[in-house]
Amino acid sequence: MKPALFAYHRPDSVDEALTILAQHGGDAKPLAGGQSLIPAMNFRLARPAVLVDLNRLTTLAGIRGGADGLRIGAMTRQRAVERDATVARDAPLLAEALPHIAHPQIRTRGTVGGSLAHADPAAELPAVMVALGATFELHSPRGKRSIPAEEFYTGLFTTALAADELLVEITIPPRAPHSGSSFMEVSRRHGDYALAGVAAVVTLDVAGGGRCREARIALLSVGDGPVLARKAARAIVGEEPTAKAIQEAADAAATKDVDPPGDIHASAAYRRQLVSVLVRRTLQSAFERARNH
Ligand code: FAD
Repeated sequence: MKPALFAYHRPDSVDEALTILAQHGGDAKPLAGGQSLIPAMNFRLARPAVLVDLNRLTTLAGIRGGADGLRIGAMTRQRAVERDATVARDAPLLAEALPHIAHPQIRTRGTVGGSLAHADPAAELPAVMVALGATFELHSPRGKRSIPAEEFYTGLFTTALAADELLVEITIPPRAPHSGSSFMEVSRRHGDYALAGVAAVVTLDVAGGGRCREARIALLSVGDGPVLARKAARAIVGEEPTAKAIQEAADAAATKDVDPPGDIHASAAYRRQLVSVLVRRTLQSAFERARNH
């Protein structure tokens, strides 16, 4: 199918892009890598009257490491993040999750900001950013604001972004000492959207006998958006990460944190089982890495 008629703008600056978005209100959509928006337009699931192409906005692309954290421009291609040495060092969870997204050709066009703004509940990056405690910077002609990743997602394919706002940058806080992370998912074939997935970050209290000081466990493909598994975290924080304690956290995630949907790809019961197994495995792996960090 072909998309419905639309007007096309290719601004040279962020200010110009914001002005065009504001002029057209909800009728305009930013175009990043086009890997989700263009198929949706071709199927006429999306019919924006105006497209604002962000691909000339080179200031929105780039990766910067620093004492205050890792900053990733919204227009940075997923493939660039996957191959970046600073990302591998400062946010290994992100580097581990990226190869699970689609295929190299799609990641070469697809952007980090596009995936985060698209808010597919089965997408890897939203859950990873929630687990990492990332902050998103949003700009509009009305000003700038920062929002934690977990508050950005408000429902199925919906976010806190207003029609005249752009996601411009993502900040990932510095890695805590004695922290470890792990990402795992189950999909039918490599590159398919996950039936369920888990991104986990844990920190050990080494002075306190090796108990778990902090845990952030984010789940994908089991809710309307990324799910921060607060009850699972509560079950493990303050505990020694024994097999029993990890299993209790995994049980809490599967029975208290999620009410997964069933569909043609997987039943609700199967997704719940996947959550239990994947939380257990990611926690085991994250604690192992934390001991060596
Ligand atoms: P676009 O498609 O250009 O835009 C997506 C949406 O975000 C649009 O609504 C757009 O207006 C908005 N937007 C984009 N940038 C901004 C911004 N800076 N500020 C505000 N709004 C913005 N994704 C996964 O996570 N996991 C997968 O397994 C996976 N498999 C895929 C398989 C196939 C065959 C294809 C085609 C895609 C797949 N994707 C998958 C999606 C892919 O990751 C996309 O790249 C991503 O979802 C969207 O990024 P994009 O840069 O292409 O954004």
